[in-house]
Amino acid sequence: MVKSLPARSEVRLEDTWDLTSLFSSEEEFHQALSELEKQTDAFQQQHSGKMEDASSIVGALTAYAALYEKLVPLSTYASLVLSTDQTDDAAQMLSSKFGSVAAKISSKLSFVNSELLNLPEETLQQAMKESDEFKVYLEKLIRKKQYQLHPEVEKTLAAYSSTFSAPYGLYNTTKMVDMKFDDFEAGGKSYPLSYVSFEGDWEAEPDVEIRRAAFTAFSNKLKDYQHTTAKTYDMQLQAEKTTSDLRGYDTIFDYLLFNQEVDRSLYNRQIDLIMKELAPHMRKYAKLLQEVHGLGKMTFADLKISLDPSYEPEITVEESKKYIDDALAIMGPDYLEMVDRSYSERWIDFAQNTGKSTGAFCSSPYGDHPYILISWTGRMNEVFVLAHELGHAGHFYNANREQNVFNARPSLYFIEAPSTMNEMLVANHLLESSKDPQFKRWVISSIVARTYYHNFVTHLLEAAYQRKVYERIDAGQSVNAGILNTLKRNVLEEFWGDAVEITPGAELTWMRQPHYYMGLYPYTYSAGLTISTQVSKRILKEGQPAVDDWIEVLKAGGTKTPVELSQMAGVDITTEQPLRDTIAYIGELIDELVKLTDEIKVK
Ligand SMILES: [Zn+2]
Repeated sequence: MVKSLPARSEVRLEDTWDLTSLFSSEEEFHQALSELEKQTDAFQQQHSGKMEDASSIVGALTAYAALYEKLVPLSTYASLVLSTDQTDDAAQMLSSKFGSVAAKISSKLSFVNSELLNLPEETLQQAMKESDEFKVYLEKLIRKKQYQLHPEVEKTLAAYSSTFSAPYGLYNTTKMVDMKFDDFEAGGKSYPLSYVSFEGDWEAEPDVEIRRAAFTAFSNKLKDYQHTTAKTYDMQLQAEKTTSDLRGYDTIFDYLLFNQEVDRSLYNRQIDLIMKELAPHMRKYAKLLQEVHGLGKMTFADLKISLDPSYEPEITVEESKKYIDDALAIMGPDYLEMVDRSYSERWIDFAQNTGKSTGAFCSSPYGDHPYILISWTGRMNEVFVLAHELGHAGHFYNANREQNVFNARPSLYFIEAPSTMNEMLVANHLLESSKDPQFKRWVISSIVARTYYHNFVTHLLEAAYQRKVYERIDAGQSVNAGILNTLKRNVLEEFWGDAVEITPGAELTWMRQPHYYMGLYPYTYSAGLTISTQVSKRILKEGQPAVDDWIEVLKAGGTKTPVELSQMAGVDITTEQPLRDTIAYIGELIDELVKLTDEIKVK
């Protein structure tokens, strides 16, 4: 039964994460922040105007990396304290304070890249020869040269960086602080509603009347805020367009894809092929849900129900560890030690409380261990969510140890590969553990309804919608709530055809994702899962050698492009084949679900 959520102050300490390895108190945080401001001034004095040859470049970059390593825990702390309770005034103030100081610091540090790019390229080449350490950093910088602006402009833009990220902060404030949900009624009874409980519980509620009533109440509240949210989003889009134009990119897509180190063909392929080829499989899945649940019609509000709600094992946090350990054992003892520590040292925030960020994420500050945010509902599928976040953790646990602070982070295109890989490992492990058709059906439906639905459908439909939004913006237009609703509805209707009725309220789904404030992020989920699906099949077939390759990929961090990283793991993403294979695999899983459902019926 869904209860109204407690305040953050009421949750059990053991369900919260321990941030003391970042800073033991707010006071320590503020002290470190003002210390860093002073060190930044000293660094500027010592190095500005003095990088002229290989050794002075290497010296400056070494000191720059050290400053950067001090900035990382500060920024992590500022965002993590806010993420568990966005209504907390002190956390809001701390985060704003950090934002304004960080903008000042990055403005003062902007001379590094500007001055390096003013030097002749041979000098930079010599610096790369002198120290391998900064080779990747300098190579990436040289690639950026044609888009670099005058040093004073760069300095000014950096000084405005917290203003540029303001739309994202506003979005979260509207969503998590201002938006308050009233209880909703169904069958003469009243039920509590919140963002977290809608996405964590009500959306999957087996009772059709309660589920649809929750959806209506949820959508009505979103609607009250649609214009503010659309305006906030438009502000983000216009700032991106201006930046793209000022820096001289051909299109806003080229600007947003630049740091991902992939071209538009990889981006477009992901959206076009899935829209077309996955849709028939997913419509079949929607029909199966409809049949099993005996629904007269299948609506958008019904898509998140599980195939067999009577078979959704409940699981505690403590019990989840055994499943995770067994499933991830294949990754080796070092990886498992990380998993152990994540539980025993409280790296994970499990609590459900008001004001907490929705969904789940993993933050992996350089020089410290990863932190995971999740709102534990007690449903078995949380094991998949946690395995996913531990996949991000395992990635940076490896990359942060092997690479310097500039080289640890890979392209966004690759970010979701290690996370979805762990979901595949959990599924493979569970499938091996029992022959019972009902259990097997539950596992496969979890992969389809969670892993593939989330990464290949939810985020794909976001990506298809987002591409339409950016096409408008690139043509010099703007957006409002009406336009965004139409674009979103069109994408949903195109994908689901007549298999699913796109109920009123579904068009507001664009208001639910913070991803739109992170550039071309949504499409990378299916890109990552395409890679991990192929690698997990390799692991099933080849065992250890495939695992070893994968660990090397994790360690490589951001020193290679997505194409190179995939190649290291034996997957060639320059062709359509891996994506085609993955879509076909999803089709097979859905056919298997249909078959198992028939078997279970006969019994
Ligand atoms: Zn993820």
